[in-house]
Amino acid sequence: MDVYGLIGNPVEHSLSPPMHEAGYDHLGIDAKYVTFEPPRGAAVEAVESAATLGVAGLNVTIPFKQAVLDAVDPDPLAAQIGAVNTIDFATDPPTGYNTDASGVVRALEHHGVTCEGVAVVVGAGGAGRAAAFALATEGMTVHVANRTAEKATTLAAAVDETAGSAAGHPLSAVPSLLDDADLLVNATSVGMDEDRSPVSADALHADLAVLDAVYSPIETRLLRDAAAAGATTIDGAWMLLYQGVEAFERWTGRDAPVAEMNAALRSRL
Ligand code: NAP
Repeated sequence: MDVYGLIGNPVEHSLSPPMHEAGYDHLGIDAKYVTFEPPRGAAVEAVESAATLGVAGLNVTIPFKQAVLDAVDPDPLAAQIGAVNTIDFATDPPTGYNTDASGVVRALEHHGVTCEGVAVVVGAGGAGRAAAFALATEGMTVHVANRTAEKATTLAAAVDETAGSAAGHPLSAVPSLLDDADLLVNATSVGMDEDRSPVSADALHADLAVLDAVYSPIETRLLRDAAAAGATTIDGAWMLLYQGVEAFERWTGRDAPVAEMNAALRSRL
């Protein structure tokens, strides 16, 4: 039996075990997905221990996504982003990927949204970094806006230098940036467990696709406002699903059963 898992602190509410195990069950793969909660500061030891124990693959969540870089060989996109959320132990050293980035792109593709034109990414934390690098790598012009504006400027400069065209802005610039935008990504925590949106409703329009990284609640205020404006809406569970799908496929070498994994995920949201 293969063992896959997740390291994070905390991990008790993770939706990854049922999502991945639905995939193993559907394909008849003899595998188990387990959560581990190492002490904060023990990222490298956790990865080395997993390798020693023969764990086949690990997902990585807060607070370990940056620190595990010291224990893996990151692929180019993960190295640019500076964070790893998926580790494959088939190589020595293990390979680190950032499937949050591919999760954004694959969630858009699933909804028929092509990565062309102008994207506005609101937020410059972990999700914002993944989205900005992913979308610039796909060829979009990326505007990053953040409450702490200098973090947006720093992130945009890094994206612009290594991945594609990007610029940083304060949050106040978002309404005017959206005038000419094709895509809006909310990568802040605004809207999580609260009925608030990071973007004023009257800045949204029908030519936009709107991806909200927040998945609790599944229908955020931003997505309700976007739907009312006639925009294409993509909830955060799609990003969560596709980061898992990408990890599943890298680990098993099989096409993931997306519908079954999606059903398992959504039944728990
Ligand atoms: P993070 O690294 O802590 O970054 C948080 C971001 O939210 C920062 O840009 C922060 O701005 C901004 N922010 C927080 N409170 C704000 C407020 N009141 N007004 C405006 N901006 C505010 O967190 P993260 O890991 O990027 O996660 C962000 C969200 O994405 C969370 O809801 C998380 O659950 C979600 N997420 C979803 C997925 C998925 O697969 N769907 C994956 C990863 C994350 P400052 O820099 O100014 O503090």
